Amino acid sequence: MTDQPSLTLNDGHNMPQIGLGVYQIPDDDTARVVQAAIDAGYRAVDTAALYGNEAGTGAGIRARTETIFVTSKLWRDDFGYDAALRGFDRSFEKLGLEWIDLFLLHWPFVELDQFVESWRALVRLQQDGRVRSIGVSNFTIDHLERIIHDTGVVPAVNQIELHPSFQQVELRAFHDENRIVTTSWSPLGQGAALEEPVLARIAEKHGKSPAQVVLRWHIESGLSVIPKSTRPERLAENIAIFDFALDAEDHAAIGTLDRRDGRIGPDPRTMA
Ligand code: NAD
Repeated sequence: MTDQPSLTLNDGHNMPQIGLGVYQIPDDDTARVVQAAIDAGYRAVDTAALYGNEAGTGAGIRARTETIFVTSKLWRDDFGYDAALRGFDRSFEKLGLEWIDLFLLHWPFVELDQFVESWRALVRLQQDGRVRSIGVSNFTIDHLERIIHDTGVVPAVNQIELHPSFQQVELRAFHDENRIVTTSWSPLGQGAALEEPVLARIAEKHGKSPAQVVLRWHIESGLSVIPKSTRPERLAENIAIFDFALDAEDHAAIGTLDRRDGRIGPDPRTMA
């Protein structure tokens, strides 16, 4: 296995730059996929209470001896200070690991208006020690500014939709100024992004697949990535990206794919 890069979070912990995303994998299949991913070289897994597969994720990790960085996320039903503490307890029990590496607020859920109190609960949980790092997901600059202003605690990570058709340049600049690591969800644009002729050309030039080019672009852009696949050959393909490099021309060409309307998931400003 080629050495994989990691990113240092603003709390001093390290996070592998590539991990497996397990959204939509049934719980009873997740342990198998997680073990296959670990065997293929993955050292991080991204799950969430919403995905219903924290138990399978934990079982897969426990079946191997490698140290795996695990992320989970708090869903809407568990927003609020006390509810968030209880929601974390449930995730912790289901995973069945000694600690959770990273725990995120899954969305701001603006209508609830409880993300600040929920964030305070995560701050408390980090002090207690069962979670090492805390962060958010799908937060805009406004949401980030609010929790930083109200609590003084800067999230270690903001996990956001990010792929060549939706590059989030402004939000990434805010993250960089505030030492927040960006994790790209749907890094392959759920597969659709891979059809771009520009990517096919770059892929051909390097003797790689379009998926590998896109994942390499995230890595070289300083982002962390959590591509999803359940197929062993794609698990292997998606992590075989540390033996080539894109050049400035490739980056410029991928830069042109960014579109204002390129979002494929919900808009965090309205997601209820
Ligand atoms: P993705 O961009 O990772 O795309 C996955 C799909 O792309 C697969 O289902 C498969 O159809 C295809 N694919 C994978 N590898 C391929 C390859 N090598 N060649 C061709 N096609 C390939 O999209 P995703 O699953 O939506 O996102 C990845 C992870 O991000 C999720 O599993 C989850 O962990 C996380 N996520 C988080 C949020 C959030 O709100 N925080 C939202 C969505 C997803």
